[in-house]
Amino acid sequence: MTAQPLPARAGRVTILGVPVDAITFDDLLATIDTWIRADDGAHQVCTVSPEFVMIAQDDPDFMRVLHEADLCAADGIGLLFAARYLGHPLPERVTGSDGVPIIAERAAREGWSLYLLGAAPGIAERAAEVLTARHPALRIAGSYAGSPAPEEEDQIVERVNASGADILLVAYGAPRQDVWIARNRARLHVHAALGVGGTFDFIAGAIPRAPRWMQKLALEWLFRLIIQPWRWRRMLRLPRFVWGVLRYGKNAAQKETPA
Ligand code: UDP
Repeated sequence: MTAQPLPARAGRVTILGVPVDAITFDDLLATIDTWIRADDGAHQVCTVSPEFVMIAQDDPDFMRVLHEADLCAADGIGLLFAARYLGHPLPERVTGSDGVPIIAERAAREGWSLYLLGAAPGIAERAAEVLTARHPALRIAGSYAGSPAPEEEDQIVERVNASGADILLVAYGAPRQDVWIARNRARLHVHAALGVGGTFDFIAGAIPRAPRWMQKLALEWLFRLIIQPWRWRRMLRLPRFVWGVLRYGKNAAQKETPA
């Protein structure tokens, strides 16, 4: 495989100051493959949702992490709408929830090993079991809930490194998971580290995912609000995102294209 590292090949759009790479799932897999073959340190992938964009408006550290990540995938139909409105359409939604099963499928074929970090106790283990049942050849290097608390960090990094995992999936929610990866990537021996939000809960079956028809109608947020009503305050970020893009997006939008 001779895939060029992204985002140089694909281009990226900036939405309210946050970079989003114009990639497909195939691009993501090809890029991970390139990183694993290159064996040149831990590369960071962020799955950017409208919520990420709004958190970053008030959190300069998180904004910096997003800018320094190797890849920012568009996790959310809102980003696709925003990018199209801004005149730089993105090819597809590349969510952590769909991406992890796709990565697991490719990992089983290629022999890449995965480490599942985060979520409530038992959930990462259950998600690992579900993925292994789907792909018996899949190598799970480890799974551990842990926590993003700084006092646990050294011990968690040691566990992950001792496991020899190729790919680390971190489910501590945004911005913690992404900041955690950024803080530790220099000493992590994995090739790729991805923040994956609530993905393990979905795979383990602890939280149902919105049906496809709701996802297609851009109503995943409504489904999540119905099953997790306590999230309403966080979800106020969605209308703020829409307003921000309509009001300020065009001034702030840029497209970086390959040289
Ligand atoms: N989570 C965790 N430790 C924390 C905070 C969150 O393990 O300190 C887990 C949580 O159990 C869930 C995941 O992080 O599995 C994603 O959380 P959330 O739903 O907030 O993230 P989102 O899917 O909205 O990114």
